[in-house]
Amino acid sequence: MIKVENLSKQFKQVEVLKSISLEIKKGEVVSIIGPSGSGKTTLLRCLNLLETPSGGSLQINNVHVSFTGKTPSKKQKVDVRQFSGMVFQHFHLFPHKTVIDNIIEAPLVVQKRNKQELVREAEGLLEKVGLLEHKNQFPEQLSGGQKQRAAIARILALKPDLLLFDEPTSALDPELVGEVLTVIQELALEGQTMVIVTHEMDFAREVSDRVVFIADGHIVEQGKPEDIFTAPREERTKKFLQKVL
Ligand code: ADP
Repeated sequence: MIKVENLSKQFKQVEVLKSISLEIKKGEVVSIIGPSGSGKTTLLRCLNLLETPSGGSLQINNVHVSFTGKTPSKKQKVDVRQFSGMVFQHFHLFPHKTVIDNIIEAPLVVQKRNKQELVREAEGLLEKVGLLEHKNQFPEQLSGGQKQRAAIARILALKPDLLLFDEPTSALDPELVGEVLTVIQELALEGQTMVIVTHEMDFAREVSDRVVFIADGHIVEQGKPEDIFTAPREERTKKFLQKVL
């Protein structure tokens, strides 16, 4: 479904991602872990072309984008973003719209779909994330966990093939983390393809088919969660896990 080859990203003179190659199959749940500042979020943003990589290539479904000396066209960006949806650390809900209006906004305006049908679908999604009774509230009336669940429902309304999560629980109070992780776990059980940048190691271990450990802008090692967490091969991975587990 996704093939990243030799992807690099520089900010000014600093090389933040160094020749990343990664493949993700349909239905796979891949967690990206690693020290702060190692390039995890940048990699995720490159997958959605929210950042333009400096080199390498990206193939998502049948869209192939090469970045060496080039920037992606508008059409390539639209194609890639139609295929994938990003859930951010800080929710990014529209503050002046109710929960349900947040959910129908993009499919209504961008995809020009029928409003009644969208409202029905949105109610189904809100039920799924446990927020139906809050559909007419505004984001500021919700807890952080509820906001993040609303943000997930909003992305699901666009029916993305691929979901990208950028530290979806790191802005939440500890007691609200579980309710968001449960929603993500249910999506995994339904076979949704997902790439999750997370600091929640127990969650990564439980939900992922594969864990990718990144340090200093490159993939140090990757494998099944039980292998990475119980028998990491690389010193760098061992050191990191000793600190966080
Ligand atoms: P992680 O998600 O692993 O914490 P990031 O991808 O957020 O790491 O950041 C990797 C490095 O890139 C950091 O040193 C960060 O300061 C730098 N960086 C990220 N975004 C930008 C940007 N827009 N401009 C300049 N430097 C950036």
